[in-house]
Amino acid sequence: MTPTRRLQPPVPPDDLLELDSLLDEEERAIRDTVRQVVAEHVRPHVAGWYEAGDLPVRELARTLGSAGLLGMHLEGYGCAGTSATAYGLACLELEAGDSGIRSLVSVQGSLAMYAIHAYGSEEHKTQWLPQMATGEAIGCFGLTEPDFGSNPAGMRTRARRDAADWVLDGTKTWITNGSLADVAVVWAGTDEGVRGFVVPTDTPGFGASTIHHKMSLRASVTSELVLQDVRLPADAELPGAKGLSGPLGCLDEARFGIVFGAVGAARDCLLTAIDYAGSRVQFDRPIAGFQLTQAKLADMTVEYGKALLLALHLGRLKDQHGLAPAQVSLGKLNNVREALEIARTTRTILGANGITMDYPVMRHANNLESVLTYEGTSEMHALTIGHALTGQQAFR
Ligand SMILES: Cc1cc2nc3c(=O)[nH]c(=O)nc-3n(C[C@H](O)[C@H](O)[C@H](O)COP(=O)(O)OP(=O)(O)OC[C@H]3O[C@@H](n4cnc5c(N)ncnc54)[C@H](O)[C@@H]3O)c2cc1C
Repeated sequence: MTPTRRLQPPVPPDDLLELDSLLDEEERAIRDTVRQVVAEHVRPHVAGWYEAGDLPVRELARTLGSAGLLGMHLEGYGCAGTSATAYGLACLELEAGDSGIRSLVSVQGSLAMYAIHAYGSEEHKTQWLPQMATGEAIGCFGLTEPDFGSNPAGMRTRARRDAADWVLDGTKTWITNGSLADVAVVWAGTDEGVRGFVVPTDTPGFGASTIHHKMSLRASVTSELVLQDVRLPADAELPGAKGLSGPLGCLDEARFGIVFGAVGAARDCLLTAIDYAGSRVQFDRPIAGFQLTQAKLADMTVEYGKALLLALHLGRLKDQHGLAPAQVSLGKLNNVREALEIARTTRTILGANGITMDYPVMRHANNLESVLTYEGTSEMHALTIGHALTGQQAFR
């Protein structure tokens, strides 16, 4: 007979799940390091950044780069070459700080750097990846357009040949870090289909402006890119990317990070609510002692645990043999949806204090609205899963 485990309350959710037993030594070390980076460089400032609607991207990128977090799952060119699971755990810790910080790392490492690493020429890789890994150079990823979000196949940005050169024209919008990037990976239609281009942002004709008045992901820079007669040499094209599978491959990388990241935001909300409920007294007792509060905490911990286990399962599969897009969709659909629900429910436990910047719950809830939409909306992921289950394509 196996002995009964004894747990001494109060037990944090991760200990209830015995999370550490699912991670190896290196994974625990990476998680602890990133948690420390977030505690030191993000938590003391993030509410202020959020309120100001700005982020010191360059300074933060250097900090994150020196911790080895930019492109950490890529091999060579100054990148750490960690497992996918370790990268996921880093995303979890970063998003426990703020979705905007995880977005910075996702866009740099999984969208811009991954595109160059997977599809670029040797010259692209040696020129850009080492300086992007240290955070000296900032990258952005331009796929979405004003009239084409969920359906990038309709993109209007064009790249035409002019003798040996390429000339790009078009507009991209909602581009994270676009207005301070040194290099933009821009996707454009050509006579042979969609192609990717490595565009130094000081190329004449390239313009970028910051999008203001956001109510979500405020600790993140979001921009519009305008390309007018942007002339590039022939070798600016990413030679390994043919068609939409190029950008979609990058998006799958970034979505994988979100599968873990959303769990981090949920954990931060849950821990805040448990702590708050233990000290907030109403009707002469801590609100943690009320059954309705405990039911909320228990339900949230169940969903948090399921999301965490799903993320780890997908991480292990990715490390073994890679993931199909529908598997990534499964993780993103569930984990962002549940994290958002957890953020909203924890807000109710904090009452009026929950709407302030003194606590992170409403900031996380607002951020998760963006996370639900970018890297494929929840509806798109439902349709991807539906397609996998039925063989019927319901997108159009
Ligand atoms: C903060 C932020 C940062 C971003 N960063 C980047 C970035 O760095 N690079 C980049 O390229 N993009 C970026 N995006 C853009 C993001 O990827 C798009 O917003 C997303 O793909 C959705 O596109 P859309 O907003 O145009 O919505 P739409 O495509 O217009 O969709 C609107 C609604 O219609 C639904 N819908 C659409 N088609 C269907 C269908 N066939 N069936 C059912 N429902 C449907 C959608 O699910 C959604 O609910 C960012 C967005 C945000 C908010």
